[in-house]
Amino acid sequence: MILDGKHHAQLLLATLKDECASLTKRFERTPSLHVILVGQISSSQIYVGMKEKRAHDIGIKSVVHRLPDTVDEKAVLALISTLNHNQDVDGILVQLPLPAHIDTNNVIESICPQKDVDGLTSINLGRLVRGDEYLIPCTPRGCLHLIHAWKQDISGLHAVVVGRSALVGKSLALLLTGRDATVTLCHSKTINLSAFTRQADIIIAACGVPGLITGNHIKPGACVIDVGINRRPDGTLTGDVDFNTAHPIADAITPVPFGVGPMTVAYLMANTLRAMQQRLNGTMPIPLLH
Ligand code: NDP
Repeated sequence: MILDGKHHAQLLLATLKDECASLTKRFERTPSLHVILVGQISSSQIYVGMKEKRAHDIGIKSVVHRLPDTVDEKAVLALISTLNHNQDVDGILVQLPLPAHIDTNNVIESICPQKDVDGLTSINLGRLVRGDEYLIPCTPRGCLHLIHAWKQDISGLHAVVVGRSALVGKSLALLLTGRDATVTLCHSKTINLSAFTRQADIIIAACGVPGLITGNHIKPGACVIDVGINRRPDGTLTGDVDFNTAHPIADAITPVPFGVGPMTVAYLMANTLRAMQQRLNGTMPIPLLH
């Protein structure tokens, strides 16, 4: 089974479009997402462009604040403060990475947790640790959606997550734990990685190492989720999984591109609507569960 993220994202976005229309009618204004883009990194510009397009497609107002890479941290914090206080702003996202002279943690922490649609403030990550899922990081949420498309009940299954960033690996490990999977979290210091991955019913590769997970790392019948987005010298994209050797052994696998990537963007839209709805104390449920 190929877990087609583009298809699943389209289905989710269609539902979100209806939700967006209902929220717009109910609160008499369009939900809005504000993205802060610092500098000229080409991949960041591409990601922000995709976010803008999806927002437009479903009826969310998208505003991109483009700042030069020479901007100082104080100016970024001042912009976030303005957006925090603007009642018409529902979601705030800072596109990462930021230039080295800006402290990323300071910037993330300055976002109002109710508008933190990337789910990366310590309040929202803390809620996730507690099992209280409020605004969840979009990529792990998208991975979980695709895993549920393979199997709805993952209780008791062994999931091996390769990569421990807060943005992806660690948050996903928490989400999977919350669904009663047994989780092993691997990283660059893990000794004999394949000894762990070969035991896994579910493997999530989120390490940024092209082709690290091969067919030899996979138990027959496993579900393999490839989060990695790596650019080859010719400009094409490749994941952290060697698709050609993994595909015949896995029961289900995500491609790169069009696997996790579209789900990440779709859940950013879901989080924006959820942020608006919850901040304005509405009761309309936003479908965050598969
Ligand atoms: P980070 O660089 O923050 O983290 C990488 C993690 O992988 C670290 O925990 C690191 O270990 C681990 N790692 C590195 N090398 C190895 C190795 N040889 N064996 C095992 N573990 C290893 O990356 P991100 O988490 O931000 O992103 C991971 C990948 O996912 C990237 O390719 C990124 O582009 C992609 N990505 C894709 C998204 C999507 O929407 N599809 C969204 C976000 C990211 P250690 O902690 O020990 O250094």
